[in-house]
Amino acid sequence: MDRVTHAGSFTPMKDTGIVNWSLYPNFSREEFICRCGCGRADMNRDFLTKLQKLRLVIGPLKVTSGFRCPDHPEERKKKAPGAHSAGLAADVVPLKAGKYELLKAALDLDFVGIGVAKSFIHLDTGHPAAGRPALWSY
Ligand SMILES: [Zn+2]
Ligand SMILES: [Zn+2]
Repeated sequence: MDRVTHAGSFTPMKDTGIVNWSLYPNFSREEFICRCGCGRADMNRDFLTKLQKLRLVIGPLKVTSGFRCPDHPEERKKKAPGAHSAGLAADVVPLKAGKYELLKAALDLDFVGIGVAKSFIHLDTGHPAAGRPALWSY
């Protein structure tokens, strides 16, 4: 059992189970597919559960970036693949709620990595190579 389960921690064992997308009624696999062309959408199920909870609190979310494999251009820029490559992150835009409401709800739900950009908000539940919790702007 190398899966760490205490709150807010990174899960070192990759969740490679098949995602049952019907558990997340407001999201679809297509929204999370890596845009490099590999077709993968290997999202972590605990992350998706949290994102679905967030969606229920603040209304519709547009996912601008979900899973990113290590070959995705954004990940290739980095020294090591980040939380998107672990299936533990998404960049979202709230379609009805304001950014303040989104941030407040994300903190209440214990997302531990929050990055505020002009055009999206990055949310993650852990990162193998960076300290969490963390809040940053781009
Ligand atoms: Zn890819
Ligand atoms: Zn991101």
